[in-house]
Amino acid sequence: MQNAPITVSRYADLPGRMWSHTAPTPVAAPRLLAANDALAAELGLPPGWLRGDEALQILAGNLVPEGTLPIAQAYAGHQFGGWSPQLGDGRAVLLGEAAGRDIVLKGAGRTPWSRGGDGRAWLGPVLREYLVSEAMHALGIPTTRALAAVATGETVLRERPLPGAVLTRVARSHVRVGTYEYLASRNDTDGLAALTDHVIARLHPQAGDAWGLLDAVIDAQARLIAGWMGLGFIHGVMNTDNMAVSGETIDYGPCAFMDAYHPDTVFSSIDRFGRYAYAAQPTVAVWNLAQFASALLPLMGGEAGIPRATEMVNSFPARFGDAWLGVFRAKLGLVTPDPGDADLIQTLLGTMAAQGADFTLTFRGLTDGTARAGFADPAPFDAWAARWSDRREADPVNPAVIPRNHHVEAAIAAAVDGDLSFFDALLAAVTRPFQDDPVFAAPPRPGEEVTATFCG
Ligand code: AMP
Ligand code: MG
Ligand code: MG
Repeated sequence: MQNAPITVSRYADLPGRMWSHTAPTPVAAPRLLAANDALAAELGLPPGWLRGDEALQILAGNLVPEGTLPIAQAYAGHQFGGWSPQLGDGRAVLLGEAAGRDIVLKGAGRTPWSRGGDGRAWLGPVLREYLVSEAMHALGIPTTRALAAVATGETVLRERPLPGAVLTRVARSHVRVGTYEYLASRNDTDGLAALTDHVIARLHPQAGDAWGLLDAVIDAQARLIAGWMGLGFIHGVMNTDNMAVSGETIDYGPCAFMDAYHPDTVFSSIDRFGRYAYAAQPTVAVWNLAQFASALLPLMGGEAGIPRATEMVNSFPARFGDAWLGVFRAKLGLVTPDPGDADLIQTLLGTMAAQGADFTLTFRGLTDGTARAGFADPAPFDAWAARWSDRREADPVNPAVIPRNHHVEAAIAAAVDGDLSFFDALLAAVTRPFQDDPVFAAPPRPGEEVTATFCG
């Protein structure tokens, strides 16, 4: 890219044993399928560049931008709980960096870490990742982004021949828990230190040291997974090599958003025991973070660091719980925390699970009154909704009733005539302001407006 500002990724400043110089493998007949102009602008790419031929050749892997150094990153990981000492970018090439973010071509051909794989991707997962990652971003969830999807004009052999494609993925960093495990398992303390300096500088500048980094990553994951839970999102392959230390959602494979809610929902066909089921995700995060903490131990005093590291990992459930409550309180419009909130939320979720109510539509429908229609037997929902509306009354936002001038004036006028009943009724209404009230919530009708109020 002669004009576009892509530079060598800072990841390539790390020791060479953590990556390998790997050029993408050219493809036969690239064709642009999707291009993210808004993201291109964020990255400082020239307007329109993404839709030009130079970009197409670069995004297909046919042309390496001038001044960059394409690399594949080494990592290891626990896959479904089993240790894999050697994974790495088997089909991803890190092209370089723009505006501080790494640009990766996924499906760009074989690398030293491809093992038996072809290094390629087919159209389906590429478009799926494009859609889901961009949806996640729009939903406010930290995530890798999709800059472009390009068809290769080549066939990829899966269960049958399928059209090939390359996804251009953008991330604040692709360093994973598995990157740490790779070094720790090789007793590479110098590598761990260098990686930690890199990650702190790039992603967690407040962290200071390995302890601070562990804390920051635990926090970022607690918030990330709470965000997933609030959308009914199931990652599907929460292996340690798919957990980014940036706190971005990474590696969209068999992920899915639930339709009918059930906490045990699993979509991934390879997840036969439900290890990565919806409700298991926070528990798996603890497991993954324990691997991260273990890998960091050489930088945290070795065995002497174990008690404190354990305590920090064990703080995840409380941190996640806080984040989860925050997410679901917001979904229910509960502004002021109340000790009963978790139960209120869980009761709704339990009712939804019992009847298979749609996750998204139930929450969306709470505010416009359509949620009830999602329950074949509405009685449990109605009982819950009564509790919910009581609870919402306690929130000091968005009152239904305020002491409107025309009501105040009328109450005073009646009181002057010796009748306090209107005053009493108004008082009752304005002191439970979040409860709908057909009389006192109503604005003045024409002719009832009070245009002036007076002191004294
Ligand atoms: P994932 O399950 O997507 O996290 O992938 C696990 C590992 O398999 C990573 O090291 C990938 O780079 C690698 N991998 C996945 N698909 C392919 C492929 N088609 N060719 C080479 N490596 C692959
Ligand atoms: Mg992966
Ligand atoms: Mg993958």
